[in-house]
Amino acid sequence: MPLAAYRRILLAVDLTEESGAVAERAAALAKSFDAQLHVIHVIEPLSLAYGADFPMDLSVVQEQIQAQAESHLAEFCAGVGVPAHRRHLIFGRPETEIHRIAEQDDMDVIVVGSHGRHGLALLMGSTAGGVLHGATCDVLAVRVGPGAHQTGG
Ligand code: AMP
Repeated sequence: MPLAAYRRILLAVDLTEESGAVAERAAALAKSFDAQLHVIHVIEPLSLAYGADFPMDLSVVQEQIQAQAESHLAEFCAGVGVPAHRRHLIFGRPETEIHRIAEQDDMDVIVVGSHGRHGLALLMGSTAGGVLHGATCDVLAVRVGPGAHQTGG
């Protein structure tokens, strides 16, 4: 039986320096399957991190974070050649929102970066692990960070 083609690929980025390496792999996958590449970045609300009873109005800081993420995501997507209508900037928990958009927009595969952590960090979990658990489509974890294997073109 021939391998089913990926038609829609969801690249999840945290917009750190490592996102470029993950994007390269996702773009190559999209090219080889002639698939549509989408990009998602999730902004974690400060209230989730600090609790709603934080003794300060965080809304101004939150707006600044959003504005910065918007321009950073636009710049990143322009570099990868992903048009505006295939960019998803969402508020919430990364794993939850990545799953939600993947299901809602009928993605065939989610591409995430993975640090291959061990020890305490592994016990505490990672976004890649969270995305893998509960995903209803394929997940490609691209190894990033120190020790990541570089593949040549
Ligand atoms: P982490 O486990 O947090 O180091 O993240 C590993 C990978 O999870 C990143 O390379 C991204 O693919 C994805 N990821 C982490 N945070 C986010 C986020 N806020 N929005 C979208 N994807 C994310």
